[in-house]
Amino acid sequence: MKFETLAIHAGREADIATGAVAPSPILSTTFARDVHGEYPHGHVYTRSSNPGRASLEALLAALEGGVAAAAFGSGSAASLSLFQGLAPGDHVIAPDDVYHGTRTQLRELLARWGLTHSLIDLTRLDAVRAAIRPETRLIWAETPSNPLLKVSDIAALAELAHASGAQLVVDSTFATPVLQQPLQLGADYVMHSTTKYLGGHSDVLGGAVIARRQDELFGRVRDYQGKGGAVPSPFDCWLLQRSIATLPLRVRAQVANAQAVAEFLAAHPAVSVVHYPGLSSHAGHALASAQMKGYGAMLSFQLHGGREAALAVAAKVALFTRATSLGGVESLIEHRASVEGPHTTTPQDLLRMSVGLEHADDLIDDLRQALAA
Ligand code: PLP
Repeated sequence: MKFETLAIHAGREADIATGAVAPSPILSTTFARDVHGEYPHGHVYTRSSNPGRASLEALLAALEGGVAAAAFGSGSAASLSLFQGLAPGDHVIAPDDVYHGTRTQLRELLARWGLTHSLIDLTRLDAVRAAIRPETRLIWAETPSNPLLKVSDIAALAELAHASGAQLVVDSTFATPVLQQPLQLGADYVMHSTTKYLGGHSDVLGGAVIARRQDELFGRVRDYQGKGGAVPSPFDCWLLQRSIATLPLRVRAQVANAQAVAEFLAAHPAVSVVHYPGLSSHAGHALASAQMKGYGAMLSFQLHGGREAALAVAAKVALFTRATSLGGVESLIEHRASVEGPHTTTPQDLLRMSVGLEHADDLIDDLRQALAA
């Protein structure tokens, strides 16, 4: 079945009791045994499983071409489930511009857990190879990356990981399964902050891990989900399933807008550099063309005028909302270094943008007036 069809139908079951076409959230926390003491519908208690969460997980697994998915209450809980599935003393390789929350988990939470990590430029395969140790268990890729939109080679990283007995996770939040399917390129797990494009409307927090195989680490991810209790509510699962039906349409329209905005910014004299894989000037353009079906709707750009100019442009836009996060229908702009805090490695003259579904002409007009000021 094609992606658009899966996005609507995968994981959905007809409601035999009522004939309802649209699914409804099952809010019950507990499920009845029959007279034999069995659970005829397979659900016992909502922390362990819930019908709506099972539907969402079947949908996510289908979209990524995986065997199973585990849904979480946030993307951060999803990433933590993978890291905590490792043992003290294990080593993780992650990108040097990894999402700052993932970096904070590794530095603050997981150092106490005994996990070590190296932050490496994953676009340099020789550097990755050199960073692999006997105790390396996971290569954590994020492509395109946040906020520099670096593109790393999923198939090559999978090969490197597997050759040394490690596994590859791809945080594919920026790409979505519409544009990139890491499991098909050899990755072992895909991680999403479903808060972003999959939710799509900036009104639900969630995360997911999707697995290529039912292996030991995925078993521990499931344990962390059910026994650790890091689960999304039935209502959040329902919101996500509802949003994912329109995911392919939203993402393709947002990508078209982002391309137009990136081309406008690249030609503007106040802008020193635009980080967007859809521009032929971007270092990852050729790789993105090969491993993605589109270049995404996130971009960042730097200004000749430095930090002050970046803050002034952010202050002057009217249509873009000054806010963190991404993937919603509305366009957002953010001075990324400010939100990342004291450990930031993001350039101070950089603004990050999540391009939404407004008309591209209106977005460009807004940027034009902000940059002129
Ligand atoms: N990964 C990426 C690339 C993100 O951008 C984010 C959030 O911004 C996360 C993970 C964490 O997700 P959440 O905020 O849902 O915990």
